Amino acid sequence: MSSGVCQTRWVRLTHPPADLAPERRRSYQIFIHVYLFAIATHVSFIPIFAALDVAVLMLLNLACIAANIVAIALHRHGRRTQALLIKLGAVIILVIAAGMMLGDETGCEYFFFVLLFEVLISDLTRRLKLLLSALVISLILATEHLLFGTLGNWPYSDLSRELLFSLNVVATFVLFTFIVLQVYAITETTERRFRTDATHDSLTGVLNRRAVFDKVERYWQAEQPFALLLLDADHFKCINDNHGHSVGDEVLRHLAQLLGNTLREDDFIGRVGGEEFLVVLPDTTLEDALSVAARLRNELARSPCRLESLDLGVTLSMGLALSSEADELRDVVDLADRRLYLAKSSGRNQLFAQGGESREAEMGEGVTARLLPEMPSADNA
Ligand code: GH3
Ligand code: MG
Ligand code: MG
Repeated sequence: MSSGVCQTRWVRLTHPPADLAPERRRSYQIFIHVYLFAIATHVSFIPIFAALDVAVLMLLNLACIAANIVAIALHRHGRRTQALLIKLGAVIILVIAAGMMLGDETGCEYFFFVLLFEVLISDLTRRLKLLLSALVISLILATEHLLFGTLGNWPYSDLSRELLFSLNVVATFVLFTFIVLQVYAITETTERRFRTDATHDSLTGVLNRRAVFDKVERYWQAEQPFALLLLDADHFKCINDNHGHSVGDEVLRHLAQLLGNTLREDDFIGRVGGEEFLVVLPDTTLEDALSVAARLRNELARSPCRLESLDLGVTLSMGLALSSEADELRDVVDLADRRLYLAKSSGRNQLFAQGGESREAEMGEGVTARLLPEMPSADNA
């Protein structure tokens, strides 16, 4: 089998099936690795029991491998309780049989602790976890005090028993370490994905409204100066009306990507409305913010959104405000918003960095400066 096919099968196996509920996906990813690692462990014990000529334990190891394969299939179909019970049942029988046939001091009872751990990290109900934990602990005690050696004792040298003991200790240690690392890695990845989903806009990939305002708030609280650039695509409705909503989506993605590529490393962007973006430029003077805005407009004019036979240009109206212009963050945002309105009402495709200090500005009065010249209108049609 080629490595590509193996990789595809591995990805298909280790990734949760699409119809699995989101809250079950993390557990699936953890347990699929637990089952696979258990299979590898059982496989490695078969030659040992073959060498020791204990056919029953060899067969029980094979049964455990089969149980883990069945458990994978059940877990993939969402039947995680049955999957775990089959896996646990098979190992319990193997460990008890090993204890009864080989006597104590072979270390096989340590596997009970791995089982206990698997029960506790599973997503079974709390009641079932407590019940199964009590069962496993009872089995540890029963095996230790009542069952060890009832069917025979270690028939070989002390040295070989000590070797098996060491092997069991190492195997349980490796299983513990592997499971803990796996739980940690998957939890971290899941958490990161949830955090990204919660803070980013799914269409454009930039910060969403709440996240960008949270971030600006942190700058404000830390008294770090910044410039706010509020951008709104001009006549965007025409793009949707003329070319369809999915083309409009493409243009928004293109716009967000172009903004991201044009800005500096510390600057950040959020999508604060349908076709409205907030760009935050930390530690930026008015002159620098104006040149950033000019660069954005030039880039946008130079790079229309290319879609098959279509070149879709879009222009932006912008309102710029500095954090030093008001005593409250909300007032800085309002100022940028009013200047954006001024840019719109003055013909669009413009930047306003002054005016709008008073509410009359919303009515088109109080405009004191239009700081970037009007750009030739891009072709939206
Ligand atoms: P103006 O120059 O005054 O801003 O005009 P406009 O057409 O851009 O503004 P208007 O508020 O009239 O329309 C905004 C349009 O943006 C309408 C809405 O369907 C579209 N829009 C908002 N969110 C999305 C989106 O996620 N995808 C697409 N394709 N369109 C969107
Ligand atoms: Mg618009
Ligand atoms: Mg708008």
